[in-house]
Amino acid sequence: MQLLLGATLIDGTGAAPVSDAAVLITDGRITAAGPRQAVSWPADAEVIDLSGLTLLPGLIDCHDHLAAHGYGLPQRWGLQEPHSTVHMRTAAVLQQTLATGYTTIRDAAGLDVGFKLAMAEGLIVGPRLMLAVNIISPTGGLGDRVSPSGHDCCVVFDPMLPPSVANGIHEVQHVVRAMARAGADVIKCATTGGASSRPGHGPKDIAFTKDEMRALVEESHALGRRVMCHALGGPGLRMAIEAGVDSIEHGCYLDEDPELLAMMAEYGTFFVPTLTVYVFHRERSAPHVRERGRELYPHHLASIQQALEAGVKIVAGTDAGGHEHNINARELQYLVEAGLTPMQALQSATGWAAECLGLERDLGTVTPGSLADLIAVDGDPLQDIALLQDVQRIKLVLQGGAVCVDRRVEQLVH
Ligand SMILES: [Zn+2]
Repeated sequence: MQLLLGATLIDGTGAAPVSDAAVLITDGRITAAGPRQAVSWPADAEVIDLSGLTLLPGLIDCHDHLAAHGYGLPQRWGLQEPHSTVHMRTAAVLQQTLATGYTTIRDAAGLDVGFKLAMAEGLIVGPRLMLAVNIISPTGGLGDRVSPSGHDCCVVFDPMLPPSVANGIHEVQHVVRAMARAGADVIKCATTGGASSRPGHGPKDIAFTKDEMRALVEESHALGRRVMCHALGGPGLRMAIEAGVDSIEHGCYLDEDPELLAMMAEYGTFFVPTLTVYVFHRERSAPHVRERGRELYPHHLASIQQALEAGVKIVAGTDAGGHEHNINARELQYLVEAGLTPMQALQSATGWAAECLGLERDLGTVTPGSLADLIAVDGDPLQDIALLQDVQRIKLVLQGGAVCVDRRVEQLVH
């Protein structure tokens, strides 16, 4: 039994902070939380003094690509270095990501189930993982690996990352089942191009038909998987929402059709804008990508502001991997700059994020019954959301009650 004592608690539900809090942990789960005087604990509880720190739920990034290490074709296709080196690199990213206070990651394609198995066995450490495995799209869509000059991907087939191109209802059903077989916890699909997709398949170009999308959502839900859908704008965005996907990833042009956000609010569809990746696309990507990134930027901001007004839950995701790793908390700063309050930005990476994953009973809030995934940080993120990007200020990281990172000693030394 552990007792976290003395911190200011921000519990991930949006409730006001509680100063001088006590959080009791029994067998890896939170059994009591609140002001010190409202919590009782046995005399033999191990007391962890967090005076002067802010205690939060472990952070969640709902759109990451932990196994991606660059946007260039050689990196994307795994031609740059031996696969073993890539896997080691990915394992290092997992460890570093956990050390930045991110205790759960939804990987939006590219990470195979082997990493989860290795973690369960204790071979490597990292955040809890929810895996999409691969991106399902039709021929010519986001999941179709063809180079700009028309060449097929030349990488050896990896059964843990099954082919993800599907045309027609039957193929869609087959590929969804294949993803589930390969360990997908969530089904990722794409109904539009993106900023970084090839010329000719842009953010408003549709992929899939209504019947294919309905089949995809129905099959995924039948298998107990939620659907996260890459959709930026145009008819593919509407089609995804109407088909009943559970989250819209990117959603840059939601502002162009007022009905869309109203529908998302009604259906409970989450919005994962992934602002971080578009900063990269605007500033550092290939010329056609930079142009797309700059064009969509004002729409993206308007979409977020309208989503707030419509009551759509906004969830933090960085789309990291192609650009950088271990910058997950940058998204919270961008969300605040886009109009969220600091408290809403924290919810987007805690309580709302857990809801988006369907794991709100276990994760995202400091409430009795939840897993003790917690972080203690130096400073008040409601005053300065950017402090979460400074790894030295992430003083303590607990996952299921186990101490993964403890930088409190350094705090005393310096
Ligand atoms: Zn992505």
